[in-house]
Amino acid sequence: MNYFSSSKPYIIAGPCGAEDELQLQTLAQAFQTLPIHMFRAGVWKPRSKPGFFEGRGEEALKWLQTLKKTLSIPICVEVANTSQVELALKYEMDAVWIGARSTVNPFLVQEIADALRGNDVGVLVKNPINPDIELWAGAIERMQKVGIENLAAIHRGFSSYDSSSKYRNKPNWALPIELKRRYKDLPIICDVSHICGNRELLLPVAQRAMDLDFDGLMIETHPNPDAALSDAKQQITPLQLAEIIYSLIIRNSNGESASEEIEEIRQILDSMDAEVVDILGKRMEWVKKLGAIKGKHNMPIYQVERWREIMESRTGWANNNQLKPDFIQKLFELIHDQSIKTQIELLQQDKSNESKSE
Ligand code: PEP
Ligand code: MN
Repeated sequence: MNYFSSSKPYIIAGPCGAEDELQLQTLAQAFQTLPIHMFRAGVWKPRSKPGFFEGRGEEALKWLQTLKKTLSIPICVEVANTSQVELALKYEMDAVWIGARSTVNPFLVQEIADALRGNDVGVLVKNPINPDIELWAGAIERMQKVGIENLAAIHRGFSSYDSSSKYRNKPNWALPIELKRRYKDLPIICDVSHICGNRELLLPVAQRAMDLDFDGLMIETHPNPDAALSDAKQQITPLQLAEIIYSLIIRNSNGESASEEIEEIRQILDSMDAEVVDILGKRMEWVKKLGAIKGKHNMPIYQVERWREIMESRTGWANNNQLKPDFIQKLFELIHDQSIKTQIELLQQDKSNESKSE
């Protein structure tokens, strides 16, 4: 069994970067009484610009190897090239993660996958920095192809030009949800720290991940977060981590006790949806009749005044039914768009029939 789905939520915690041996030991000690399943520590830190803390490298791997003697949970580090994979294996790391800046590069991902082939290590694949699900899926498949059994995806949000966003990396939840749909058995962990970039936002984002049935969380933790050498604003103390873990409401995806009630409501929703589709079909028949009349009298298919009138009246009806006006607006944009397309198609068919009979 894939160990990333052995317990829900599967919590991965530890510092952004391994800074010194005392920092690692302090955290390991504090984690002993917490439900934490894997220890993370960056030993090579990818930084946008040179001159910042770039990790302690091999020295930090030695500290982590020593920590393994007393720590009862597995340890993971980031690897971004084959020589880093070799060193991570040499120092007996249990798992590795592929960072967002590496997932964007299929050549690199393949080299890392080849270096991991035949080794019994866990692998976590972060989403690429850009919202491209195919790159993420491609990296996952490269790991599956070399036989990695303990494999999971990490959702860490996506870079954006939108400077008004409160997140460091926008969550874009539709993408991890699509990934879950494609790979049903692949556990998915939400790296709330790199999404938020700010410790104040961690709890609501972690709760959202639980509500969306994610398998676990990755949370950067530091004994003295404000003094951290990287990502200081988003790191939290073990005590703050405990507060987050114990405040989470964990949804039970089987929900056995509620299953009968849910089934009944689903049946009601099914029959309502059937009515909605039925009525849309009938509406379209009337649209076709309308299109035929417009064609006969050589009238334009699209009339701005009519469009405005539709939007105003329908959003008004939304308010009367406690529905959000922008939801109803989007729905009618789709319906109206389809009805214009259908009328244009009809008109074109009529024209080609006319020219054939001429
Ligand atoms: C990290 O986990 O410390 C890290 C650098 O993450 P990402 O690749 O998501 O930016
Ligand atoms: Mn970090």
